[in-house]
Amino acid sequence: MSASNITKRAISEELELLLGESLSVLDHGFIRVIDYMGNDAAIVQAARVSYGAGTKSISEDAGLINYLMMNAHTSPFEMCEIKVHVKLPIFVARQWIRHRAASVNEVSGRYSVLSKEFYLPNLVQLCYQSSHNKQGKGAELSPEQKACVLDMLRTDAEQVFAHYTTLLALQNTEQREQLTESGLTRELARINLPLSTYTEWYWKIDLHNLLHFLSLRASPHAQYEIRAYAEILFDIVKRWVPLTHAAFVNYRLEGGRFSKMALEVIRRLLAGVSVTQETSGLSKREWENLCRLLQIKI
Ligand SMILES: Cc1cc2nc3c(=O)[nH]c(=O)nc-3n(C[C@H](O)[C@H](O)[C@H](O)COP(=O)(O)OP(=O)(O)OC[C@H]3O[C@@H](n4cnc5c(N)ncnc54)[C@H](O)[C@@H]3O)c2cc1C
Repeated sequence: MSASNITKRAISEELELLLGESLSVLDHGFIRVIDYMGNDAAIVQAARVSYGAGTKSISEDAGLINYLMMNAHTSPFEMCEIKVHVKLPIFVARQWIRHRAASVNEVSGRYSVLSKEFYLPNLVQLCYQSSHNKQGKGAELSPEQKACVLDMLRTDAEQVFAHYTTLLALQNTEQREQLTESGLTRELARINLPLSTYTEWYWKIDLHNLLHFLSLRASPHAQYEIRAYAEILFDIVKRWVPLTHAAFVNYRLEGGRFSKMALEVIRRLLAGVSVTQETSGLSKREWENLCRLLQIKI
């Protein structure tokens, strides 16, 4: 390490190794960690301000982080931050940007000419609309249908990008000598580009809000394409703050929360009482969710 790299700041050795590396996502996307602040020890250090040095029962780092996660004492997790450079299709960006508790700076199609890069799904992603889940996939299309769909997606995007290039190259036929204007204004030339077009942004978020993002976007309920990004971020969190990652998986991601009525059903089941959806008082969806959490076959 050169002298200029010596720091007094808390670092994460595993994340240091990843800084600046492009981690591929989908066909043209990536996530690159630009910078970060804090580590597991920084969370513990911040938490101890509230508990005081004398609190021995929760004094071990992992124990304290588990305690914070379990009791939703979230502010110590806000002491850590991460900044990533992300390249992603616009339709993924539209879902991602809904997470307001982050700072974003995106490439501008008003200032720059956008690259001809658009997302084409992998063949296994080409499925029918699910009949029971409005946000889900059903069976895969036939190989012939897949080839046809992929061809349509590619041809349409190619055509729009060809028009984009044409619009940007329009010549001003009435040009006076001293002016060198050409091309339709970039802010309008872009408006027909497909949602599959790749965009790029810098995204900075604290760890508490990143975990919230991951709980929603690394979940099986999220669309595959944003989940692909969330899974990479999830792995980054594991390298960055392994104790927090383990606590998050245990208490939030793979843990469960129960309503009062669901707890009542669990108590009846533990007492050996047979319960069905009809006798549970739960809606069909709540009942199915509870059975999934308890791994009860229905
Ligand atoms: C599977 C899935 C399907 C979805 N479907 C749709 C859809 O069909 N249509 C649609 O429009 N959206 C949809 N969304 C987006 C969703 O409704 C949220 O907007 C998105 O997930 C961001 O969540 P958030 O507001 O908790 O996060 P953030 O914006 O990051 O906010 C973090 C937290 O800060 C607090 N907060 C932030 N801003 C405010 C505020 N103004 N007022 C009060 N509290 C605030 C809240 O506690 C919030 O949980 C979907 C999301 C998922 C995961």
